Parts: sequence; C-alpha cells; structure tokens
Amino acid sequence: MKRFVLAAAATMLVNLPAAAQTTIIHAGTLIDGIADKSRSEVSIVIEGERIAGIEDGFVELDGAELIDLSDRTVMPGFMDMHVHLLSELDPPRSYSQGFYMNSADVALGSLVYAERTLEAGFTTVRDLGANDVEAILALRNAINRGTVDGPRIFAAGKSIATTGGHADPTNGIRMDLRGDPGPKEGVVNGTADAFKAVRQRYKDGSDVIKLTVTGGVLSLAKSGDNPQFTDEELEAIMSASKDYNFVVAVHAHGAEGMKRAIRAGVDSVEHGTYMDDEAMKLMKRNGTWYVPTISAGKWVAALSEQDGKLPAVVRPKAAAVGPQIQDTFAKAYESGVKIAFGTDAGVSPHGANAKEFVFMVEAGMPPMEAIKSATMNAATLLRVEDELGSIEAGKYADIVAVDGDPLANIAVLESVDFVMKSGRVYR
Ligand SMILES: [Zn+2]
Repeated sequence: MKRFVLAAAATMLVNLPAAAQTTIIHAGTLIDGIADKSRSEVSIVIEGERIAGIEDGFVELDGAELIDLSDRTVMPGFMDMHVHLLSELDPPRSYSQGFYMNSADVALGSLVYAERTLEAGFTTVRDLGANDVEAILALRNAINRGTVDGPRIFAAGKSIATTGGHADPTNGIRMDLRGDPGPKEGVVNGTADAFKAVRQRYKDGSDVIKLTVTGGVLSLAKSGDNPQFTDEELEAIMSASKDYNFVVAVHAHGAEGMKRAIRAGVDSVEHGTYMDDEAMKLMKRNGTWYVPTISAGKWVAALSEQDGKLPAVVRPKAAAVGPQIQDTFAKAYESGVKIAFGTDAGVSPHGANAKEFVFMVEAGMPPMEAIKSATMNAATLLRVEDELGSIEAGKYADIVAVDGDPLANIAVLESVDFVMKSGRVYR
C-alpha cells in the first residue's frame, strides 16, 4: 500500500517546480485526527503536497500563499472505506445496459461520482468491488495523474466470491449464458482457485482484496446471509494476500460466514448485519475492524418500500437487512469493536457520504470518535497511517473545513466547503 502512495508522490514531484509552493492555512479550530480535543487558532504550513508543520497562532511567511479559514473548523480529509464509484443504485441501471455499455462508458459515467465524493470532503476512498476492473483502475490512475478530479482510490477491482455467491458476476442471467467464470473473474472454489484469484488481483493492479463471505442483499440469489466460503478457502486467500501485502475486506451479513473470516484473520468486516456476541469477541481479540455502512442499510430499506426499484428476489432481503445495520453498529461500538468509517456509496448516493457521520452519532458514538473513524482509523486500516489520516508534519496535505462545530452538531459535516488534496485546493 505504501508503494502505491510513494509511487504517486514520485510522479507528482516530476511535475512540480524546483521550489515547492508554500501555503499557510489559518485554522480557527483544528481537529487533527489524533488528539481528543480540538485546538483553536493554529497555522498549518504546507510545502507542495505535504504538511510541513503546525504552529500556534496565525503566523505568516514571506512568499507563502495564505488561506484564511480562521472562521472554520479544519479537519483531515475524510476517508470512506467502502464505496463503489462506478455506479449508483438509484435510478436503477436497466438490465440491458450491461450488454451494451462498454468499459469506456462505465469509466466516463463514474467521473461525476468521483467529483461529488471529493467535493463532499472525502479525499480518500476504498473502492470495494467493481465488475468493470478496467474502468475502476483507469479512474484511479487518472485521478493519481491529476487529470481527473476525485478522491485517492484504493481499489479492490473484481470482488472474490464462490459459485453463485454474492459477487458471482453471472448470477441471475440466462442459464446458457452463465458459463463458469473462474478465478480470473473472481469466482473461486477450492484452495488452488483462491490463490489464483488473489494473484490475478495482483496482476490486475488491485490495491486491496474484497471477499463476499456471505450472501448479499442486492445479488440475484435467495439468501442474504448464508456462509459462502470454507475455512480452507479463507485460509488460502489470507495466505496469498499476506504474500502480496493486501489488506482484506469481507462483505458479511450472517454470523457464521463472518466468524470464519474473522478467525482466518481478515482486516475488516463490512456491514456485519447479524454480528453476534461471539463475533464481536473474536473481532476484539483479532483486532478486526468493523466498517458499518449504515447508509446502505437505510437506503436499501427505503428502496424496498417503493415499487419497481428492486428486483423481486432482492426486496425481502433489503427489507430485513437494511434496518438492522444501525442497531448492530450501536452494539459493536458499545462492546469496543474498532470502527472505520464506510458508507457503501453507490448503493447510497455518491457525495452524501457524510450522512453516515449523522447515523453513527445517532447510534451513540461521540462526534470526535466518528471523525476519527473517517480519518486516523481508516488510514490505519489501510496501512497508510504514516501518510494519511491526520494533520501532522510529513503527511499529505489532505484538509477539509466546515462552517460550525461538528462536535456540537455533527450534521455540519454534510456541508464541507473547503477541500484540499495533496496540497491542491479543489473547493
Ligand atoms: Zn459494497
């Protein structure tokens, strides 16, 4: 993961003038992503794309560009650990579109989602699964080159599933067209396939691994929560992932599939809907992160009540799973499970990511912890805590600001009005 960030840095340096531009931000209030309390009236000194230092008071430097946020609350750029930037669920994409949309169409369609995400203050995202691998990697690379505006993307590429599982790309299509996708397309059965699928993601250029270890709400299959990987398959996936230093995220609703994955040593559990006490205990013991995606739960529950928004096989699953997630989050937080912020945007609308903060606080998490879940916690989950996640000297200058005090009213985070990524102002 570090290699990814450093490689991007090297490319940027080539394009920079000999002396990096110095910028100073006067921050009325600073929440730095690490400290438990905010600070008032500080100056953030930025050299090129990185933070050079933090000074008490409002200082000025000869030749430095000044950005006045003295009436704003300034925070690290937010990091969403679960998005799907290539699409959006509502309005539903027609079934036939899958047969005539080329990769280029999908990639161009995603530009607006990437831009909305960045404008909302999310400077880094983890894209957890895309059927069009070419498109998501092209989007990531164009953003890294600076030719397209969007968040820094850590992409899983194609999710890994088992036959008929939540990310089998041929689920629900005409029988004679289904074929047998195999590990190249992310469908594994047995340990040899598991190794091959992880190595294929490495070859593709994925940054992280995503597994669907239980049924899912939106797939055209009956169960939303059954276990879909064996212990042996999970062990093989983890062994291969360690070889390539991949962070592994697992989609899981049901407790049994979740527990198998936690025991195998995965890095994060996504959704976690039917997480039970034993699963929470295992997560605490293994240091497994929980990425709740309450937004997705709320969104699919709402769609399940409208005619024509979801296929018949999906509707009852959405109605059952959706409303459950916020309660699970409340229990998991209470029990001390580590939380990293994630929305599943793409299921919920892109750019509305910050609504998740409101849902988290509603369920009992203090605002400061909610902010940390989307900054330092997320960076730690991604193993880039030396580069991102806080406002500290040496880190990338990913900085956002809002009018108002998010510690008093978390909803102000839905109105980010300043966004800097790698020292460049986007909003
Ligand atoms: Zn997802």
